Amino acid sequence: MSADNLRRTHYRACHLCEAICGLAIVTEGEEIISIKGDLEDPFSRGYICPKAIAIQDLHSDPDRLHQPQLKTPTGWQSISWDEAFKLASEKLASCQSQHGNDSLAFYAGNPGIHNIGHMIHGVAFSRLLRTRNCFSASSCDQLPQQLIAYWMYGHQFMMPVVDIDHTDFYLIIGANPIVSNGSMMTVPDVKNRLKAIQQRGGRVVVIDPRYTETSAVADEHIFIRPGADAALLLTLMNLIFDEIKCPPEPLEQGSTSGGGFRLAPHLAPHLSGLEEVAQSVQEFTPEAVADYTGLKTEQIRRLAEQLMCAKTSAVYGRMGVSTQTFGSLCQWAVQMLNILTGNLDRVGGTLLTLPAVKAVGAGDRQAGHYGKWHSRVRNLPEFSGELPAAVMAEEITEKGEGQIRALVTSAGNPVLSTPAGHELEKALPSLDFMLSIDPYINETTCHADLILPPASPLVSEHYDLLLNRLAVRNTTRLNPAIFEKKPDERYDWEIFEQLSRGLNEARGITDSQPLPPPVDLIEYWLTQGAYNGSSELRPKVDLETLRSHPHGIDLGALQPSLIERLATDDKKIHCFLAPLQAEIPRLLKAIGDFKRDDALSLIGRRHLRSNNSWMHNSYRLVKGKDRCLLLAHPQDLANHDISGGERVHLVSSVGRITVTVRASEDMMPGVLSLPHGWGHHRSGAKCRIAAQHAGVSFNDLSDSQDLDPVSGTAIFGGIAVSLEKIS
Ligand code: SF4
Repeated sequence: MSADNLRRTHYRACHLCEAICGLAIVTEGEEIISIKGDLEDPFSRGYICPKAIAIQDLHSDPDRLHQPQLKTPTGWQSISWDEAFKLASEKLASCQSQHGNDSLAFYAGNPGIHNIGHMIHGVAFSRLLRTRNCFSASSCDQLPQQLIAYWMYGHQFMMPVVDIDHTDFYLIIGANPIVSNGSMMTVPDVKNRLKAIQQRGGRVVVIDPRYTETSAVADEHIFIRPGADAALLLTLMNLIFDEIKCPPEPLEQGSTSGGGFRLAPHLAPHLSGLEEVAQSVQEFTPEAVADYTGLKTEQIRRLAEQLMCAKTSAVYGRMGVSTQTFGSLCQWAVQMLNILTGNLDRVGGTLLTLPAVKAVGAGDRQAGHYGKWHSRVRNLPEFSGELPAAVMAEEITEKGEGQIRALVTSAGNPVLSTPAGHELEKALPSLDFMLSIDPYINETTCHADLILPPASPLVSEHYDLLLNRLAVRNTTRLNPAIFEKKPDERYDWEIFEQLSRGLNEARGITDSQPLPPPVDLIEYWLTQGAYNGSSELRPKVDLETLRSHPHGIDLGALQPSLIERLATDDKKIHCFLAPLQAEIPRLLKAIGDFKRDDALSLIGRRHLRSNNSWMHNSYRLVKGKDRCLLLAHPQDLANHDISGGERVHLVSSVGRITVTVRASEDMMPGVLSLPHGWGHHRSGAKCRIAAQHAGVSFNDLSDSQDLDPVSGTAIFGGIAVSLEKIS
């Protein structure tokens, strides 16, 4: 700890994104002197991106709150923690006692997954609320992946990750891992790992409506129409089932084949429903989908052949295939392609990580449920206790029993990150009470009545509970706090504990047991995990081991383990998923109805210096040229008599924004791209640098009524828009 002015180096995982890069942070007293990559980190090997340096800006940001803030008629007023907890507990309890449990809602943003206090105590708090109205940023992101993992493997986080360090053919669809640094695949230093595939004679192919930063490193880039990915993926499945034959070199001894496809021998007895799957994709031929996808028939056949015949291969699909109209179908097809090419649970294909910590709910027993209840207004199914964030606004404004009257948000900014954010923005002031757990007064929390700011992450111990479970290599690391918490600050977990205690007391429950601090739970879960010393094949990892390895511990490459860890009731991999069957005729109809025209569609975009909506108050990350630009193909601009650099109106069925457009040959003709997470011009927010670099919000154009019907995930790829020249 740095109570004195000694210069010290601290090793710590970066808590900003999923790559969990190791950092070497030099401090002098209370000041951060430098942040560099930790060369001795066995996982990230010294790699960091520009965002890491901005950790110091977040830590010492003058806009950061340190005391609870109460909204009063004359503005925000600092109050004591005791007053704040008392007020919050009374308001939340009284809302539920007057209007029922579901009158209180909870929304969690994605920074929470980088904080063990939030992961553990925040989840426990949301359950204590006893409401069906729980929401998170997951339904604007990866929910289809979780749902498919639950249905196929029995556990929503049983997600095989690409064995990027050993694969020979890597097909990336709707993802830009060089900019997102992996994502649902914890992997630092993606660029060098992709280059390593090429150096060992492998091949990387990117399919995307934009020639992305990852495309620039890949061997091949293929344009695809936004939202048409499912048609391509199902066609690849059909070709592999029926047509593609590889040279007669078996995948490995004992591989079985039902036609063109090959099944890894250890998986074959555990696969159920393959025949039904083969039948369900029979109508997807290259000839049927070429126009719809924008690919040539020979390109589609070549892709199927490469996937099938490479020594090892892996398909990876992320945001672009999840947040679109056929998101769940796409993520199912990704899993099926890895199965049909014999690459699921195979070195060089896709594998499960074996994490050191076996947390409750994150172990290998069945975890998840679907459709246990439905949203009140639109009757959309819950998944694992969550309803789609897209219904929040209507659940607040539509009167009736179960109407949301109070809301707790934590580490989130749904006004900018959920579809039709402007509708939510209008709805929030009508709440009886809103509590935000957040260090900033942002575009969402400015509507709160009370804000409880957690202390900076740098005063907490850090352990990546979820991200170690999605890593491309088995690894583990616990980092001590860098600075001492000030007496009048509260950790995230302390805030949740205090709120829980207050709520219990207000409900008349006086004997509730508090959860132990997060690191005590990590210590216990290590004893339940795969490295608890019970296996001679694996090193023992306990809290002491973690504390004595500040750079982290490499636990080795991923190994096949899916069959023994399957969490389905019947211990089978469920290939045929009945809930998806209505999606196939819907997709065939979309293909049949498709006509080439001049319509424009919008996709999102991410930048290495940005992280959703929450890194825009760091001057070093937002300075320079405006990044919130609309990209358009030069031909599309010419068709509208618009030049690059002009301000234009961009109009969707639900909104209209004004933005500067840039001509870019990187765009597929007919497709426009706008980054998400911007729109900091809104009144009430108090993030001064973000306000000066405001940009426009993508979600003022997205439609909260238009979702992937299976998972309820928002659609950000393929929004119908028009461009208007400003005269
Ligand atoms: S890639 Fe992610 S984890 Fe790594 S330094 Fe950048 S923000 Fe941090």
